[in-house]
Amino acid sequence: MAERYDAVIIGGGHNGLISAAYLARAGMKTLVLERRHVLGGAAVTEELFPGFRFSVFSYVVSLLRPEIIRELDLPAHGLDILPLDGTFTPLRPGEGPRSGGGDYLWRVNDHGRTIRELRRWSKRDAEAYEEYGQLMVDMARFIKPILGIVPPDPASNDPRPLLPLGGLARAFQRLGERQQAVFVQLMTMSASDFLDQWFETDPLKATMAASGIIGTYQGVKSPGTAYVLLHHYMGEIDGAFRAWGIPKNGTGGISNAIGSAARAAGAEIRLEAPVARILVRDGRATGVVLESGEEILAGSVLSSVDSRRTFIDLLEPGTLDADFEAQVRRFKFRGSSGKVNMALDGLPSFTALPGPGEHLRGAISISPSIDEMERAYDDAKYGHWSRRPYIDIIIPTLVDPAMAPPGKHVMSCFVQYAPYHLDPSLGSWDDNREAFGDAVVDRISEFAPDLKSKILFRNVQTPLDIERTTGLTEGNIFQGELSLEQLFFSRPVPGWARFRTPVRDLWLSGSSTHPGGGIMGANGRIAALELLRSRGGGRGAGRRIA
Ligand SMILES: Cc1cc2nc3c(=O)[nH]c(=O)nc-3n(C[C@H](O)[C@H](O)[C@H](O)COP(=O)(O)OP(=O)(O)OC[C@H]3O[C@@H](n4cnc5c(N)ncnc54)[C@H](O)[C@@H]3O)c2cc1C
Repeated sequence: MAERYDAVIIGGGHNGLISAAYLARAGMKTLVLERRHVLGGAAVTEELFPGFRFSVFSYVVSLLRPEIIRELDLPAHGLDILPLDGTFTPLRPGEGPRSGGGDYLWRVNDHGRTIRELRRWSKRDAEAYEEYGQLMVDMARFIKPILGIVPPDPASNDPRPLLPLGGLARAFQRLGERQQAVFVQLMTMSASDFLDQWFETDPLKATMAASGIIGTYQGVKSPGTAYVLLHHYMGEIDGAFRAWGIPKNGTGGISNAIGSAARAAGAEIRLEAPVARILVRDGRATGVVLESGEEILAGSVLSSVDSRRTFIDLLEPGTLDADFEAQVRRFKFRGSSGKVNMALDGLPSFTALPGPGEHLRGAISISPSIDEMERAYDDAKYGHWSRRPYIDIIIPTLVDPAMAPPGKHVMSCFVQYAPYHLDPSLGSWDDNREAFGDAVVDRISEFAPDLKSKILFRNVQTPLDIERTTGLTEGNIFQGELSLEQLFFSRPVPGWARFRTPVRDLWLSGSSTHPGGGIMGANGRIAALELLRSRGGGRGAGRRIA
C-alpha cells in the first residue's frame, strides 16, 4: 500500500524546504523529495576538494526574506549570516586618476569613506552618490511589498485579488513626480543608460550596472536591465538595504537551517529520491512516482523545480491543454552564467593594491568599464562564452576560515557570460569547459598576475554543468529569466502566477514563480500560505503562520 501524505514537495532547494516548513507547521503531513544526496539545490555547500568546502553555485545572500528568518526562527537552526563589507573594483596599470601601479575603486559600507574615495574620481559623482542611494532605497521600499503578494490575474472577473494593487497604486501616488519618473525609467531603461544620468566614473557605472545583468542573457546596454538592478537592491539583512552577506558554512548553511526548521515542524525529507512523474487522476494531482517506481500519494503536490521541468518533464504528455503547454515552452531560460571555484594556496595580490588587506574581504568586481562589460555580452550574443568576462569574486575564507585548511583559501568566481546555447562551430560545453575556465583565470590575472601560481585546484561550472547538477533548465540561475515580460502576473505563464496550475492540487513553489529567483524564499512561503488558505487554513489553522 503506497504511503499517503497531505503534501509532497518535489525538490529540496531552499524554496521547497520553506514550503515544507510552513505546511508542516500548519499540521500537514509533509514530505520533501530531493533528487540529490545533499539539500539545497542551487544553495548548496560541498567539499569539492579534500578540506576545501565551496558554495558551489550561489554564494552571497541579501534577498532572504526577514519574515521567513523570523517565523521559522532560522538562527536557532544554525543560520548565521556574516557581513561582507565593500566592493573592490581593481584596474590595470595606467588606468584611473592615480599614476603608478594602477588604480581601483573601492566602496565600503562606511559611507564617509566611500564618498571620500568617489571624490578622488569625480566630485560630481560623490555628490550624486548620496542622492542616488536614497532614491534607490525609496524605489526599493516602494516596490518591495510586491515580493509578498500573490499576483492577481488581470483577466479574471473576480476583483478581489486586485485589491493589493490598490495599495501599490496609492503608494505610487505618494511617491512624488520625480520618483514616479525614475520608476518608469527603471522599468524601461538599460542599466547603463540609467546610470549615465547620474555618474561619469566608468568603473563605478560598470560595477553598479553588473547588478542589472546577473543571471540574464542581456548586456548592460540592453533595455530592461535597470529593473534587475532594482531587484538586487531589495535585499535586506537586519533591516539594512543593499547589505550583502555570506552564510556561515556557505549557502548550504541556509538550506540546512531551513531543512532543520522543516524537520522540527514535523516534515520528512528524503534525499536521493528523484521524482519521475506526477500522478494525475481526473484532472487532479494525486501523488508522485519516484524513478525507483515507488508511488507516494498526497492530497497536494508542490513542485519547487522549474516550470518547464514540472509541466513538460514530470507530467504525462497530453495532461495540459496545448495553449498552456505552448506558453510553458515559450518561457525563456537561456542560462548565461558560469561559476569557477578555486582552491588557493594563498591570497592573490592585485597590482592596484598589492598584498592582503580589507579590500579582499568583500566583493571583488572585474568590471573596469561599461564597454568591456558590453563586449563580454557581444561574445555571448553570437554563442561564444565571453573571452574577457565580467567576474564577481568572493574569498569566503577571509570571513569564514573553516571553509579551507589553515592558511589556504577558497575563491568563488561568478562569471558572465556563459551562454547555454553555444555556436555549433564551438562544439559542446564539454569541449569548452577548460578553455572557459582558462579565460576566467586569464581575465583575473590581468589584475592579479600571481593568481595562477596560487591555484591548487579548479572546478569549472558551465551552464550545462549547472543544469546537470541542480536540474535548473538551461542552467538559468533564477529558474527562468528575470526579464520584465516574465515577471509578476506573467511568471511563469500569463494568468497562472498564483502558484496554482491547471492541474488541481498541483502547485508551483520554486523560483519560476513570482517574485523570481535568488535565495529569497518568498516563492516557497507564499505558495505554502496560498495552499493553506485554499484549504481553509489547513489542519493547524489555529496556529499563527504569518
Ligand atoms: C551559479 C549560480 C550562482 C548564484 N548566485 C546567487 C547568489 O549569490 N545569491 C542569490 O541570492 N542567488 C544566487 N543564485 C540563484 C539562486 O541560487 C537560485 O535562484 C535559488 O537557489 C533557486 O532556489 P529554488 O529552491 O527555487 O530552486 P532550486 O535551487 O533549483 O531547487 C530545486 C531542487 O529540486 C531538485 N530536483 C530537480 N528535479 C527533481 C526531481 N525530479 N525530483 C526531486 N528533486 C528534484 C534539485 O536537485 C534542487 O535541489 C545563483 C544560482 C546559480 C546557479
